[in-house]
Amino acid sequence: MPRPIQATVHFAALRHNLQRCRAAAGAARVWAVVKANAYGHGIERVFGALRGADGFALLDLAEAERLRALDWRGPILLLEGCFEPRDLEVCSRLNLWHVVHCEEQIEWLSRHKTHTPHKVFLKMNSGMNRLGFRPAAFRAAWARLQALPQVDEVGLMTHFSDADGQRFGREGIAHQVEAFVAATADLPGERTLCNSAATLRHALRVRLGDEHAPALAADWVRAGIALYGSAPDAPAHDIGHWDLQPTMTLASRLIAIQDVPAGESIGYGSTFVAPQRMRVGIVACGYADGYPRHASLGQDHGAPVLVRGVRTRLVGRVSMDMLAVDLTPVEANGVPCQLGAEVVLWGRSAYGTVLPIDEVAQAAGTIAYELMCAVAPRVPITAD
Ligand code: PLP
Repeated sequence: MPRPIQATVHFAALRHNLQRCRAAAGAARVWAVVKANAYGHGIERVFGALRGADGFALLDLAEAERLRALDWRGPILLLEGCFEPRDLEVCSRLNLWHVVHCEEQIEWLSRHKTHTPHKVFLKMNSGMNRLGFRPAAFRAAWARLQALPQVDEVGLMTHFSDADGQRFGREGIAHQVEAFVAATADLPGERTLCNSAATLRHALRVRLGDEHAPALAADWVRAGIALYGSAPDAPAHDIGHWDLQPTMTLASRLIAIQDVPAGESIGYGSTFVAPQRMRVGIVACGYADGYPRHASLGQDHGAPVLVRGVRTRLVGRVSMDMLAVDLTPVEANGVPCQLGAEVVLWGRSAYGTVLPIDEVAQAAGTIAYELMCAVAPRVPITAD
């Protein structure tokens, strides 16, 4: 009997979320962001559900090779571009769009002996201060690229630092949109600005008649986390409206049950002490499975879980292979708990209830992106 932990990727939810992103993006095409092995879901696995996307955006050549091996012939965008000059050869062979964000990448292109002209997106650092040319240097970089015989098409892009924050207006993305528009107004080429949060909020901006709405969706949006069913910023109710569905369930089972007398502690470090007699379920899931250790921090802080579809919470520290949950509220609901009972760490229960991954992330002081990407290789993943 294998250890009972299991992750499941939900195809119908991926397809649904892609449609939601399309609806939010208006006329713009959608790059489905599948970097980090499709946010932990598996590129090959999600490809079946997301092949209706207009293109795929990802991180490196190995991921691009995997997509081409699936016979995807449409656009692929390398989000950080080439890491060294010899990557250019592979970009040509795989027919990739690649981001150009620094002088060195332009230099590599200028020295590259290529038969296939390159398609690039020139990236502006409009305020994120991670990758890209600052607005004042952008046009000169564009002119150099445009003049290269090795380059065929030049698109224009930027990336927002705070699209999912609570600050919707000027302090949010407005200053970045304005910098981008001012520096690119008369340049030809396709444009892409929005990640998930900006895409979902774009629809709201259109409704509100926001002055930045027309520039935002542009020709392409780059949707990542929304495809995987997480609101980019969970508390932002304007994003939560989008009816995204969870695309990943992490589930396990009870492998032991303890009757703990009042006053005794549970787990390493004795961080939780039973206030009264408690029934405690031991679950086959720990931090070596990718579950966040910070999901349970002490007496009053334990992330939510579903046991047989009923909400309860973690008690005591998460250990390497196990965690403990309070069965009292479950049994008080008339739902008996025996060995083998289903425990959903996030996602959908077989009993029809859902535990949003965002709630678990919040309880662990992190974001859903990290939880999805951290599911460990020892956890078997299936799809339904
Ligand atoms: N575009 C770029 C350049 C990114 O780095 C990312 C992800 O980090 C995305 C788009 C997708 O972002 P999100 O998952 O928030 O939609």
